[in-house]
Amino acid sequence: MTDLDVTPTQQRTLEALRRQGAALRFDAGEIAELVAYATSEVAALSDRLDAHTLVVAKHDLSGILGCETHHVHRDPFDWSARNACGSVVHRAIQLQLNWRGDPLPVQLVDEAIDRLTAEDNSLAAWLNECSPADIADLRGFALDSVTRFMESFPPLQPEWTPVVEARVMWPAAGPIQFRGRVDLMLGRPSGTESRKVFVDVKTGARATAHALDLHYYALIETLSRLVPPRALASFYLDAAEAVVEDVTMPALHASLRRALAATERLIEVDVEGRTPTKQPGWSCRWCPVAEGCQEGQAWLAKLDVS
Ligand code: SF4
Repeated sequence: MTDLDVTPTQQRTLEALRRQGAALRFDAGEIAELVAYATSEVAALSDRLDAHTLVVAKHDLSGILGCETHHVHRDPFDWSARNACGSVVHRAIQLQLNWRGDPLPVQLVDEAIDRLTAEDNSLAAWLNECSPADIADLRGFALDSVTRFMESFPPLQPEWTPVVEARVMWPAAGPIQFRGRVDLMLGRPSGTESRKVFVDVKTGARATAHALDLHYYALIETLSRLVPPRALASFYLDAAEAVVEDVTMPALHASLRRALAATERLIEVDVEGRTPTKQPGWSCRWCPVAEGCQEGQAWLAKLDVS
């Protein structure tokens, strides 16, 4: 990454994302073993799917490996100003990449909302029907995030080959597919040298789940392209701080074991009809069946110190 005229927080981010040591090359034999193991395990799980198909996204992993009963009764997805914010922010960052001149965050956000409204998908349908107050909320949330991003993340340079909302998928076809979408992908491999950095942009505080999500994306990238990313970063907008870790073979193996365990549970519960188990925890607080769940109520009662 080249030297740039940057603010102190942009400089800090730049330093955190820069490669610290020697060029990173993974052992081709170890990668081949990982891919072969994943291929045989996914084939064995696919045999249990009958005519079903299964797309495994990051929220499926955390959902089924948390409380299975909550996973079964999870609320259907509905768009709101809060959850549409990420799409607007990503589109605004994408626009900034090729915008001539020095755009203001508000220009990028308004243009992003206009463009998303003109598309043909469920978000566009919601944007076309939501109230002016929802649009005002959405604009406010997105403006906050885009402003913070532009202040604290170094200006994206064309030579970094940035890709916003980069999709990763493995395998290309088959009844089971691992899929993800990386907020921001920087760099590209040079031969077998790992050079990519995956960045997820986060509001709020640091959480273990953020690293697990990035490990999953790195696993899918490795299985599909055979060259792992170099590093993974959660970029926390509120703190203007990037938490970066190098990609390692043990982390890729752990992520594969987690993905396979979750996939097996998804098949057992969603396809084969096994009774879901309960695992009380923080998700009891927003679980739609909490009122009638003894285990959940007992766990929530322990939180009530009044
Ligand atoms: S209340 Fe808690 S334990 Fe009960 S189903 Fe919901 S998440 Fe699971």
